[in-house]
Amino acid sequence: GSIRVSVLGLGAMGSVLAGALVKAGYATTVWNRSPGRADELVAQGARAAATAGEAVRSGQLVIACLLDHESVREVLDPLSGELAGRTLINLTTTTPAQSRESAAWAARAGVAYLDGGIMAVPEMIGRSGASILYSGSAEVFERYEPLLDLWATSTYFGDDAGLASLYDLALLAGMYVMFAGFMHGAAMVAPAGVTAGEFAAMAAPWLTAMTGGFHGFAAVIDGGDYAAEGQQSLRFSDLGDILAASSEQGIGTEVVAVVQRLIRRQIDAGHGDEGFARIIESIRQPA
Ligand code: NDP
Repeated sequence: GSIRVSVLGLGAMGSVLAGALVKAGYATTVWNRSPGRADELVAQGARAAATAGEAVRSGQLVIACLLDHESVREVLDPLSGELAGRTLINLTTTTPAQSRESAAWAARAGVAYLDGGIMAVPEMIGRSGASILYSGSAEVFERYEPLLDLWATSTYFGDDAGLASLYDLALLAGMYVMFAGFMHGAAMVAPAGVTAGEFAAMAAPWLTAMTGGFHGFAAVIDGGDYAAEGQQSLRFSDLGDILAASSEQGIGTEVVAVVQRLIRRQIDAGHGDEGFARIIESIRQPA
């Protein structure tokens, strides 16, 4: 396209994002703090800028994919004048508050701002399964959607710039706790001579099937009636057997004990006859 794009940050992720733009024919300028990382992209047709300021001046659209919020501030704070009137899409992982801070900074500087959260590893960029979440300027999202769609499935959540980060981190919260659950199961069966690979062969289809339960939980949570029919009541999900078996295997119990505590707080509060979705109240209202 005739859009001039500049990419700041050529780490594992930034270099793949830039490479996809070059391949698609965008006039792409790249910059990285440490030299050398642009060489491969230049060989593919990108132009290397010697400074971040030069890169910003070369592009009507500036993509930032740096390490963290602090590195973004360090690079962009001195460049507010150069960025004025341009568009900034920040794909650096930040907290929602940091995303909102960058959006407020951009508004003061006269920069159109879109924040993004990348739900993919670099190898997935440009392939099915990659997802990038966006929030901030709807105008920026709509205008550059064809470019964004080169990288991943693009989803826009609204003009609050913090929403993409919030979704990103909420999804990662779910992932990490699920991964810890897998590790717990693998540790349980290991003393019986079961390899982690053998356990994974059983766990992957099981957990995949169990994700089908999310929508049922969601309907109960959104409906606000945890006593709704068709669910196992909380008092039958005490997890005592799982903890006992874990102890018998001589392994730690904290991963599962966390869930048991969430359940028990609701039983103790008199909700033992309600469904499992009720434990969200233990999380919403911390002890
Ligand atoms: P890397 O560690 O590979 O690269 C970090 C980049 O940030 C490098 O270009 C580095 O430059 C630059 N940088 C760090 N500090 C500064 C600074 N103070 N000033 C200027 N530049 C700086 O990280 P990734 O490319 O993997 O990640 C980039 C962003 O993408 C992160 O926010 C990450 O959370 C996010 N992301 C990454 C994923 C992945 O799987 N890799 C997945 C989802 C999101 P230099 O070369 O000079 O050190």
